[in-house]
Amino acid sequence: MIKIKSAEFITSAVKKNQYPQTGFPEVSFVGRSNVGKSTIINALTNRRKLAKVSNTPGRTRLVNFFLINGQAMLVDLPGYGYAKISKTAQAAWGKIIEDYLTSSPNLERFVLLVDSRHKPTQDDVIMIDYLRHYQKDVVVIGTKLDKLKRNDVAKSKKLIRETLNLKPEDTLILYSSTSRENLQEVINLVFDGILPADE
Ligand code: GDP
Repeated sequence: MIKIKSAEFITSAVKKNQYPQTGFPEVSFVGRSNVGKSTIINALTNRRKLAKVSNTPGRTRLVNFFLINGQAMLVDLPGYGYAKISKTAQAAWGKIIEDYLTSSPNLERFVLLVDSRHKPTQDDVIMIDYLRHYQKDVVVIGTKLDKLKRNDVAKSKKLIRETLNLKPEDTLILYSSTSRENLQEVINLVFDGILPADE
């Protein structure tokens, strides 16, 4: 079992020369705006306000860096797929992601968040295909599990797997920040091989 013992906000960056050069392995969180990314980061780190839960979806255009247990970086990438976003803002988002992906030598894993209540969007499919090019591990988390009926859990998993074209060995876990169901499983998956496990 992996335990999160400390979590510390390091910095927010827009440009790549603002990224902290820590040398620690990085896990990056990506997902559509409003998917619950800030909430899961707060739950994982056990801090209520470490990542700002967004009131206006699509506004945050920063890459946020958090130091976990003094040994690993959790990176919060800006959300995508906000319907009202302009073409200029979309291009700016793309540049931020590309800059990050092409200049993060310690990046080890992506955590892609999708809403477990719905079929993954076209943007989610584009995102996972894009991430696959970087040949890092991708862990998929379906958020808002508390909103699903028990009967629909298996159906939701199947739909996510099929839509995102996950291979049998790709990991998918459904999770709720509200009930904290599967929180420890998420921590174990996200930091597997990155943080040492306790007895
Ligand atoms: P972000 O834009 O991806 O960072 O999304 P937020 O973390 O700001 O969450 C968007 C909305 O979804 C907020 O109103 C959260 O309270 C809500 N939310 C996040 N996680 C969960 C969850 O597990 N269950 C439920 N029911 N709501 C959630």
